[in-house]
Amino acid sequence: MVNKQVSDIPNGMEKIISLCKRRGFIYQGSEIYGGLAGMYDFGPYGVELLNKIKASWWKEHVYNRDNYVGLDSAIFKDPRVWEASGHTKGFADPLSECKRCNTRIRVDKELEEIGVVADEKMSEAKLNELFSANKSKIKCPQCGARDFTEVRAFNLLVKSNLGDFTSTGERPVYLPGEACQGIYLNYKNILNSTRVKVPFGVAQIGKAFRNEISPRNFLFRTREFEQADTQLFIRPHENKEAYERMKKERWDWYLSLGIRAENLKWKQHENLVFYASDAWDILYNFPTYGFDEVEGIHDRTDYDLTQHMKYSGVDLSYTDPQTKEKFIPWILETSMGLGRVFLAVLSDAYTEDLLGGEPRIVLKLAGHLAPVKVAVFPLLRNKPELVQKAEEVHRMLKGKIAGLVEFDDNGNIGKRYRRQDEIGTPYCVTIDFDSLEKGDVTVRDRDNGKQDRIKIDELAAFFKQKFS
Ligand code: ATP
Repeated sequence: MVNKQVSDIPNGMEKIISLCKRRGFIYQGSEIYGGLAGMYDFGPYGVELLNKIKASWWKEHVYNRDNYVGLDSAIFKDPRVWEASGHTKGFADPLSECKRCNTRIRVDKELEEIGVVADEKMSEAKLNELFSANKSKIKCPQCGARDFTEVRAFNLLVKSNLGDFTSTGERPVYLPGEACQGIYLNYKNILNSTRVKVPFGVAQIGKAFRNEISPRNFLFRTREFEQADTQLFIRPHENKEAYERMKKERWDWYLSLGIRAENLKWKQHENLVFYASDAWDILYNFPTYGFDEVEGIHDRTDYDLTQHMKYSGVDLSYTDPQTKEKFIPWILETSMGLGRVFLAVLSDAYTEDLLGGEPRIVLKLAGHLAPVKVAVFPLLRNKPELVQKAEEVHRMLKGKIAGLVEFDDNGNIGKRYRRQDEIGTPYCVTIDFDSLEKGDVTVRDRDNGKQDRIKIDELAAFFKQKFS
């Protein structure tokens, strides 16, 4: 059997994108109206995979730890939150416009693409200098011209008119540019209403919105996305060891999803924001796009709570219950984009191989992530006795397996296997004429095509053990 990973396949990302649409993982947002840039919808199998990635992350951070709690904060927040956090002023990407067709480009990313070291945290002057020196090598992605305006900072916050009935828009309520702010806002509530003590962490999954200049690369850069964040509140200066531990835990979690270590790497930030003590990103080796960020791990000192204390006027300091020492906790943060991790998981699982001499596409997803756990087929759809037995087995398994159990009688058996392989279903159960007589079924293993006969009475226990 020849196993081809997606990284060995030219235009690998195109294959993933096509599979996502064909098999109900991801659809372009508002597609029937021509599509809205930077928006994607998760289809029936996509939402299953997404929820399973979230469940694995939640288990790791909330259920498996003693000093972490969960949170789900409101999307809309007082506008002062975004002033305190620095987003209204500093949350900007460098933009330039094509003078011929007005297409906007994100300058730091265009520079990076031609091998120039640049990032959005550089000063406008520095970016203008780098851009001027390299402009001639950058083409407008729309019309191909090489004639651009000066670089200017473009704020990424998305405004709304929530609660504003004046239509002057003077005090817009923003959509969150990052999901984590709700954790800082509730830090005191959590301390007062639960049993946590510093050091403690809060985990949250929430939506973020950014007016990205050029949304692109499928789920990689969208204007609406979901982030899974943790904030660990620690004693001042007790950051180094905890930060190293956090980095290791985050790396190991990616491996637990079945992602291969050779497709992951670390990148330390060269330009730290003024308050940060350290910052590292975990990068994944995306097909076609190459290595890029899926998660940031940030050592943020006491910046966030200090800022919210200043802007809200509420004392956010912590008093140690034993020593009575008073301090503002420092924060270690992990922030992961779920769309990017979803894409990494799909990419790592995507395989083309030969099974019984036939080429096939198979998603070798870890069992706990597979959207459909088991598919049940009658060997022939025009034999009522087989269909009835298959429906019985399907109903029985549905109640006993946590996750989707699918019934499929479309097309011939080969087509059904191909479809289930492409959505990553670990096991297919086929009911044939022997099943009616002997009470057993064929169970086919996705990865090697091996088929075993298992008694119907023993199926539930068999799968329980397989998925444990
Ligand atoms: P980038 O440099 O790629 O714009 P960032 O450094 O601004 O990302 P953070 O603000 O640290 O990203 O956000 C944390 C995580 O949120 C990122 O690691 C990424 O996985 C995800 N993320 C950020 N922006 C987007 C986006 N536009 N689309 C999808 N995911 C995103």
